[in-house]
Amino acid sequence: MQSIGILGGTFDPIHYGHLRPAQEVLRALDLAEIRVIPAANPPHRRPPVATSEQRLRMVELAVAGAPGFTVDDREFRRGGPSYTVLTLESLRREFGERPLCLLMGLDAFEGIETWHQWQRLPELAHFIVMTRPGWEFPAGERLPPWVRDRLVRETSQLAQASAGKIYFQAVTPQDISATRIREALARGEPAEAWLPSVVFEYIRANRVYVNRGN
Ligand code: ATP
Repeated sequence: MQSIGILGGTFDPIHYGHLRPAQEVLRALDLAEIRVIPAANPPHRRPPVATSEQRLRMVELAVAGAPGFTVDDREFRRGGPSYTVLTLESLRREFGERPLCLLMGLDAFEGIETWHQWQRLPELAHFIVMTRPGWEFPAGERLPPWVRDRLVRETSQLAQASAGKIYFQAVTPQDISATRIREALARGEPAEAWLPSVVFEYIRANRVYVNRGN
């Protein structure tokens, strides 16, 4: 049975640094789909600049043009802090024993030990860690034991369990961040190359990042 990919994030806004690496993982791991799950109330950072509705709408627009991707708004429906552990628990209830693959960039993975109930996350999903410019895969001896013990080198090993493995996936570097996009838009500099044109048009039409303390 094909695994389900999960891409969480603030998506303020969604951009090609999210979509392209995830698309490479979708193919490399032969996933059934990538579910993009925007965080309604991201607990680990300052509040997003765009409203929740705007971030969700931008994700919907981006995903409509990305075969293999779907939007999952469960963190909006749930309310409260958007803890990944709660999201994975509800996905696990829905998908039974099917393998769940939680995608994240190296920057997110390096901070994972600060996440709410992080030790429970490997009980609920595999981790697929994607390269990101400016971040290096840690050398084997520098990995914490809980990571080293879970590391797999073959994608086929992911299908053998429903959760608990960690796989490092090198992806084509996308030197893009939402911060950089917000800053460029606030200064009136070009940003359209970094995100789907439907998202760019939405941002422009709704003046999402103009004079909003980006
Ligand atoms: P911000 O600049 O506002 O912090 P961001 O661009 O890092 O935002 P997030 O929504 O915080 O975007 O990221 C969601 C997920 O996508 C995280 O796991 C992050 O590591 C990953 N990600 C974001 N940009 C890239 C990129 N350019 N390459 C690889 N992974 C990325």
